[in-house]
Amino acid sequence: MKPFSGNPEEFNDRVIEQYRRYVNPALAQLMKFGGYGSVEWTGEGVYITDTHGERYLDALAGYGVFSLGHRHPRIVEAVHRQLDQMPLSTRQFFTSPMADLAERLAEVSPGKLQYSFFCHSGTESVEGALKCARIASGKHGIIFTTNAFHGKTMGSLSAGGREVYRTKVEPLVPDFHKVPWGDAEAVREAVTADTAAIILEPVQGEGGINPAPEGYLQTVRSICDEKGVLLIADEVQTGFGRTGRMFGVQHSGVNPDIMCLAKALGGGVTSTAAFVGTPEVWNRFFSENPTIHTTSVVNLCAMAAGLETLKVIEEEGLIENARNMGARLLEGLRLVQSELPDMVREVRGLGLMVGIEFHEKDFGLLTIAGLASRKIIAGYTLANPNVIRVEPPLIINDSQVDYVIESVRESLKECRDLLAG
Ligand code: PMP
Repeated sequence: MKPFSGNPEEFNDRVIEQYRRYVNPALAQLMKFGGYGSVEWTGEGVYITDTHGERYLDALAGYGVFSLGHRHPRIVEAVHRQLDQMPLSTRQFFTSPMADLAERLAEVSPGKLQYSFFCHSGTESVEGALKCARIASGKHGIIFTTNAFHGKTMGSLSAGGREVYRTKVEPLVPDFHKVPWGDAEAVREAVTADTAAIILEPVQGEGGINPAPEGYLQTVRSICDEKGVLLIADEVQTGFGRTGRMFGVQHSGVNPDIMCLAKALGGGVTSTAAFVGTPEVWNRFFSENPTIHTTSVVNLCAMAAGLETLKVIEEEGLIENARNMGARLLEGLRLVQSELPDMVREVRGLGLMVGIEFHEKDFGLLTIAGLASRKIIAGYTLANPNVIRVEPPLIINDSQVDYVIESVRESLKECRDLLAG
């Protein structure tokens, strides 16, 4: 990997100006003053390096995209191999990378989930899952929860719990009904004869790192069984070992009818997504029209990356590492909380999906700045500005976790002194 070799100031100014002129001026402003203000250049393992040659520990991992870290050599090699052979499918022929990945997903997915539809982003997988639920059930109603996040296109946004993303776009897709997160009885009350599905995340990510309360998913599953409603698990962020199990729903033993996947499936090198369904759902989804849901691009490099990702997760013991490192992180951060209870309200999470909730959002802002000055990337949750998240690659080790914990402690103390002084 070649380090940046030019004048970083000039180069960065040019890129930021391009953002301002051709990408998103308001975002450029926000990133320049509220973010890292620099241009990334290379990535390797848990680290990225910017054009100034500053190396950062990536404790955010692209909100779950970089579970294998940056440029995992086995994923890079798998993608190279496929690129040299055939990068995209014609879709007129059968194609084996897609068939291989679909078979492997059926093997690792919980319960009877067996069939996969491949696409490119999380929101696209949710769109497909919602269509699939309506077509398979012959019903329309979709139940979603407060603080849910499923993406920002029209269908997924209709199931989004945060008003700020919705109001300017309304009217959204009809027949979406919001219930309080964690309240199974509210689900029971919301179900009508026309309810197709309930969609939820096993651990809410953007909503503030909220693991499902004890027994919640099991009760929702039994309500679905009783009333003939489909359960859609959005595992876009929780999938592929992030929570210390292959999928977040496996902590509760609940089997969804449809599961949405993305982010980590691309191995941190490509963008891959899918939704997976049971034969019962799939047969009804496609029975009358096998092309009722399609996309023109089947990215075979992404399929190769997905297949290799599953092998790496298994062979490198990344799920176990997520469990162990997650426990270490939680314990360390809870100790910090006990030292600074006036600043930290709660530390919570599952595996390597951990949130720190502050009493005030300024503490979060200053902690993120303090971590940045210690060369650590952390971030907010989209729907809850009082919570910052620590969601590093699953390949992180003891000493890197300890460095993150110590840096949170130091940043908070610095913030306390600043506010006191
Ligand atoms: N579902 C969940 C649970 C997510 O966390 C996200 C992204 N943070 C999405 C869907 C949307 O994914 P994408 O940004 O790839 O569209």
